[in-house]
Order: sequence, then structure tokens, then C-alpha cells
Amino acid sequence: MRKQIAAANWKMNLTISQAEKLVNDLLATAHEVKENQQVLLAVPFPYLSQVEKLLAGKNGVAVAAQNCSNKLSGAYTGEVSVEMLSSLNINYVIIGHSERREYFNESNQLLAEKINMALQNNITPVFCCGEALEIRESEKQNEFVGKQLNESLYHLTPDQLKKVVIAYEPIWAIGTGKTASSEQAQEMHAFIRSELSNKYGVETANEISILYGGSVKGANAKEIFSQPDVDGGLVGGASLNAGEFNTIINSLK
Ligand code: PEP
Repeated sequence: MRKQIAAANWKMNLTISQAEKLVNDLLATAHEVKENQQVLLAVPFPYLSQVEKLLAGKNGVAVAAQNCSNKLSGAYTGEVSVEMLSSLNINYVIIGHSERREYFNESNQLLAEKINMALQNNITPVFCCGEALEIRESEKQNEFVGKQLNESLYHLTPDQLKKVVIAYEPIWAIGTGKTASSEQAQEMHAFIRSELSNKYGVETANEISILYGGSVKGANAKEIFSQPDVDGGLVGGASLNAGEFNTIINSLK
């Protein structure tokens, strides 16, 4: 059965003492994470080990990286490899967030290489996809997201694909306070699952967790997550507040 996932994306926010406080506040008020659920905290690289220590022994909550290199090692100043992440016991990495696509020119082809790197090192990629406002307004969102999936994921075998988590994040809803309606989210998630099913078969498609991201908060999480093809959320702004993020975790199916 596919997991229901609440993933926090802290982005480039918080000092280490603020980060420690947030994790401690989160743990102090957290309910038990159920067997079918997973909570992820995608924290800045320098905090991976410290947050991992703070979470020790907390079932169902794991630390994630926000990015990784497409190279294994070598003269790539400033980059962080999947081997480094593995050596810190990090088992999840966000790949292809729209901010990385936009500000760091990450292409679908480069992201395919990062996906390979992660999978070869037993790290679960949380692969982000999603369209900009102009594409949604010209009703080309399915074509656009289909191409992102095709160019970054469809070289994988079914067994590899089953290890990938997908996050649909319409760019027009990220950090804007403008959430996709639960119908819009369900429509796109069903489209993604049907594309995966066409390519890999229904059994494989049904095993993939597809998260929604874009201005998810405590007040709208339950409604969005209740949609049949929405398996939780990737959450930016609201994940920086322990109370909000706990409400989001408690909204998982
Ligand atoms: C994100 O950064 O992945 C995101 C969805 O941000 P926000 O929740 O702030 O829109």
C-alpha cells in the first residue's frame, strides 16, 4: 500500500537554533505517525545530522535533503553527493523543485541523472513536477507535466519507479497563498497516475505516492489530502510553524 506523506521543505530558512526549536516543538506536540504514513523534514544541508539526532527513535519521521549533485564525487565545489547523504543515513532527497529548475536551470535531463544517482544509492527521490501559470491558463498543464515525467522518470524500470515519490506542485500555487482547488489537485494527480499506469501498468502506478504542494496549510490540508489520488503534501511556508505542520500531519489519510 502506498504511503501517505507529509514532507516539510524548509528551503533556505532558519538558523541552527531556530531549527532545533522547531524540531523540538514539533516533537513535543506530535501525535503518533501511523504505519501507512511517513513524515519528512527536508532541511538545509548543514543541519542534516543535527536534525537526524533530534529525531532519533521517532518512528515514521525522517530527515531529507533538498537537493543532490548529479555527479558522484570530484572537483565540483559546493555540491553535495548522494554518497555523502548516504553516509549520514539520509534516505530521502527532493529532486527538481521548481525553484531549482528556475534559479539553477535544472533541466529534465539533469534531473533524470539525479534520480539515477539517488536510486543507485538507495535514497528515495521526491521528484517535483508542475506547471507555471501561463501553461495552466493555456490549458497545456497535462502535456507539460507529462513531458516532465517522460524525460526524467520513464527510463526507470518498474521496480525503480516504485521507489520514487512524486510531488505535483503547480508553480502558481507555491508560496503565493493561492492553493489549487481539491478538484484541480485530484484531476492532475489522476492524470499523473493514469500516465504512470499507461507506461508501467496499473499495479505499479497504484504503488506510487503522489504528493500535492502549493500553499498547503493546516486549514486546507484535510480537504486536499482527502482526494483519492492525493497521498499527502510537500509543504513550504506552513512547515516552519510546528502547530501548522502538526495539523497537516494529522490531516493525512
Ligand atoms: C514548496 O516549496 O514546495 C511549497 C509548496 O511551498 P509553499 O507550501 O510555501 O507554497
